[in-house]
Amino acid sequence: MHTFDAVVVGAGGAGLRAAVALARSGLRTAVLSKLYPTRSHTGTAQGGIAAPLGNVEEDQWEWYAFDTVKGGDYLGDQDAIEILCRDSVEAIVELEHMGLPFNRTPDGRIDQRRFGGHTREFGKAPVKRACYAADRTGHMILQTLYQQCIKHDVNFFNEFQVLDLVAVDGRAAGVVAYELATGELHTFAAKAILFATGGFGRIFKVTSNAHSLTGDGLAIAWRRGIPLEDMEFFQFHPTGIYKMGILLSEAARGEGAVLRNGKGERFMERYAPTLIDLAPRDMVSRAMYLEIREGRGAGGRDYVYLDFTHLGRDVLEKKLPDVTEFVRTYLGLDPAVDLVPIQPTAHYAMGGIPTDVDGRVVLDPENTPMPGLYAAGEAACVSVHGANRLGTNSLVDLVVFGKRAGLHMAQFARESDPVPVPADAEKQVAARLESLRRRREGENAAAIREALQATMMEHASVFRTRQGLEKARSHIAALKERYGRVRVADPSRRYNTELLEALELGYLLDVAEALVVSALNRTESRGAHWREDFPNRDDAGWLKHTLLYRGDGGDHEIRYKPVVITRFSPQERKY
Ligand SMILES: Cc1cc2nc3c(=O)[nH]c(=O)nc-3n(C[C@H](O)[C@H](O)[C@H](O)COP(=O)(O)OP(=O)(O)OC[C@H]3O[C@@H](n4cnc5c(N)ncnc54)[C@H](O)[C@@H]3O)c2cc1C
Repeated sequence: MHTFDAVVVGAGGAGLRAAVALARSGLRTAVLSKLYPTRSHTGTAQGGIAAPLGNVEEDQWEWYAFDTVKGGDYLGDQDAIEILCRDSVEAIVELEHMGLPFNRTPDGRIDQRRFGGHTREFGKAPVKRACYAADRTGHMILQTLYQQCIKHDVNFFNEFQVLDLVAVDGRAAGVVAYELATGELHTFAAKAILFATGGFGRIFKVTSNAHSLTGDGLAIAWRRGIPLEDMEFFQFHPTGIYKMGILLSEAARGEGAVLRNGKGERFMERYAPTLIDLAPRDMVSRAMYLEIREGRGAGGRDYVYLDFTHLGRDVLEKKLPDVTEFVRTYLGLDPAVDLVPIQPTAHYAMGGIPTDVDGRVVLDPENTPMPGLYAAGEAACVSVHGANRLGTNSLVDLVVFGKRAGLHMAQFARESDPVPVPADAEKQVAARLESLRRRREGENAAAIREALQATMMEHASVFRTRQGLEKARSHIAALKERYGRVRVADPSRRYNTELLEALELGYLLDVAEALVVSALNRTESRGAHWREDFPNRDDAGWLKHTLLYRGDGGDHEIRYKPVVITRFSPQERKY
């Protein structure tokens, strides 16, 4: 048994920002991560982090808040969005003071570029709001925060995979983790626990997300009776490399790259006349699918092009070096002269573990917190992104709400007594591992995972219908049954990745099921949730958050939570 004041699960941007806040507050803090911290997915974030610094052109936090509310199709909670937008400026300055090497303007200030859906004067024209470090912004954030954690003596438990949450009398008391190097179980007791385990794009076949993004934190919480909020809203990013899904950052379009259909037309002019290629992601992804459906895909196929050819080698090398390299490496093309084939790729979960603005996990529509439990980052739903996240808004979410969660945890831990963790805390997990290891007959996890990813892609991605979602639901039920017979052939204890993949498949099945059930239930179209059988947004019926609970017998309960509206009343969303 390990005992700390605070335990952070996940070493991405959200977890590390919380850990810095905790350690600076003087708390004994442990960070558990199934990957080495610097391999966390935040490191792949390319394009930028938003803040209305106004360094390149005039900007205001209210304009930013309006864009975020509108971008999220009015489903975001505006109290949380106001905090995000106001605090973003301080968050950037803090990162800079920690040593983050942002790109600079000629007069030495942090440079800013354009990103989709970010405008000046409440929608008049695009604005330069994204601070960036070339197209390696996430990498720089991750490295900077990790160094700060080392400086402040945060205790890291790397390659420790959390498999369960321990709760005593309704209060979070600890977690059970599996040590990859030895196969041993460890219990960590703490007064405050944060889940910052990232997203779950691996439920889909074509995705920008790493293999590790399997929704562990969400599924562990859900199995312990915590609801999941707004799971139906999953973002597809328009510019994934065709068939591979590897992301070409929106920074490319921010720097002037344009989308073209098979006829060479700049088709976004028809769908979003003001912002064109820099319209929000949900709209661009849908427009691409419509072009393809109407026979204007490239070469009559299911992709369109991203055109960089007019940008010049200087911009490509200085501002988009990684994007340029990805095109060369994965496609063997030169973006300075070739058109690049792209398709929408599963990218970001707007839904997740519900929290309040201090990162406390809440259990019901009245926002009753579960004492001692916190969540932040992509695993959480605070909800600042509503039905569709604007580019650059996840990195801000991580640092603003990661810090707020860390500060609240510090206060909570100082004011409360430790909860004794039961001696048999590991029992359930040990039994689950044993039954997987012992099973002699059964099938391997990979085939079930592939079937899940294909069904989610076909029926629960950019366009949805009742029929398709029902097929997905029954298919997932059948896959869950097969999962009950999964067998792990590798009996070893050290680095048994087959065993871990089998466990992760269980999480994928749970979060996919939560997404499909929530999507079937929401009979309207809003943001990234597009129902072809209900093509209109229905504010009278659906301006509310979904809270999905998992019943003991595999049944579900849905409850609703009102959307917090402060200054922006819902309007039709046009760009
Ligand atoms: C290719 C790409 C480009 C992007 N570009 C941008 C951008 O330019 N701007 C922007 O704002 N957003 C961008 N995003 C989105 C953004 O990067 C992510 O949403 C964000 O980094 C998520 O951070 P996080 O801290 O929540 O989780 P992550 O960085 O994914 O970290 C999750 C952590 O949890 C750990 N973990 C998971 N499960 C367990 C477990 N069971 N036990 C222990 N540890 C566990 C992992 O080891 C990891 O340390 C991009 C995303 C992608 C995929």
